[in-house]
Amino acid sequence: MQQDPNKKTVLDPFGTSIIADYERLYKEFGIEPFKPFLSKVPNPSLYMRRGVVFGHRDFKRILNAMKKHEEFAVLSGIKPSGEFHLGTLMTAKEIIYFQQRGAQTFYCIADIESYEDNKVPFEKSEKIAVDNVADLLALGLDPKHAYIYRQSKESHVKDLAIVFGRAATLATMKAIYGERNIGLYLAALIQAGDILLPQLEEFGGPKPTVIPVGVDQDPHIRFTRDLAQIFYKKYGFILPSSTYHKLMKGLDGSPKMSKRLMNYFTLHDKPEVIAQRISNAFTGGRATIKEQRELGGVPEICPVYEVCMFHFVEDDEEIIKVYNDCKTGKLLCGEHKKQTIDIVTKFIKEHQRKKKQFIDKAKEILNVE
Ligand code: SF4
Repeated sequence: MQQDPNKKTVLDPFGTSIIADYERLYKEFGIEPFKPFLSKVPNPSLYMRRGVVFGHRDFKRILNAMKKHEEFAVLSGIKPSGEFHLGTLMTAKEIIYFQQRGAQTFYCIADIESYEDNKVPFEKSEKIAVDNVADLLALGLDPKHAYIYRQSKESHVKDLAIVFGRAATLATMKAIYGERNIGLYLAALIQAGDILLPQLEEFGGPKPTVIPVGVDQDPHIRFTRDLAQIFYKKYGFILPSSTYHKLMKGLDGSPKMSKRLMNYFTLHDKPEVIAQRISNAFTGGRATIKEQRELGGVPEICPVYEVCMFHFVEDDEEIIKVYNDCKTGKLLCGEHKKQTIDIVTKFIKEHQRKKKQFIDKAKEILNVE
């Protein structure tokens, strides 16, 4: 766990992260700003263009590989503890973005982490994983050019974890992740194995690898980069690169989506449920229509705006118009919520239709009956 006691910034992949100001992460944790790269990235993704991807480590290596059409890999994944929500949707879209730009693609189903962190039994996470992979395929990942695996069934990542365990003292693990049970430390070692898997000889050997993740996962990246250096002689690892996206707020305006608060929706929810949640969402609107017309809304704190900006309004000019219309009081919250419900439920219905067609393929990929 990375923590600055004075400024209360916490990046904790196993718990609650607190990020008061993303700018601080550059100075406090050595994450580099992504913005200077933006003009150099051919066809930047929506997240890159809009500053949702705000930081990176060693992305230059990936940029060079993309520009020179050299070999590189992308790896990220999902913890199979529940359905795809808007956070996991981000990672999936990022993986697909890099796959479409020529990356060797790896998608990890982190079922060991789900077992250790969320206490989800393997029989249950297997079913959830099928659903997650069907989502991924419906979103456009090409399974013919991707290696999709479960941690519990992939011996290479477990073997790497055993090797890496030699270099990780209890003090190191505590410093990075805080006081946790040994199972979570083991899950962290296995995650390091995931991140470096694309560089094993069995997968073509050392190569630049980008890990697109939410910034709360940075402790795993830093830990793995240290291990890559320690085991350079044995494996020839190239330090893995990363991109970091911002974390989405809950629909109730709280800093994080939470199962307990039910302040988010999943790609699996019924359109009526999603419509209800958006309808009830907190907004950056004013107390009265008169006030909002005069003062304008505050899209910067508004989860409805965030849902649109992160995911559902693809046209940059359109999202700028939403922002400006909100700021000037031209757009009111009721009207905007209705528009958002229409866009989101249209997407969800289409996605759920497509996803049904991929369930068998997902079972085949995961070797599940
Ligand atoms: S108009 Fe839209 S973006 Fe602005 S505060 Fe209301 S819901 Fe949020």
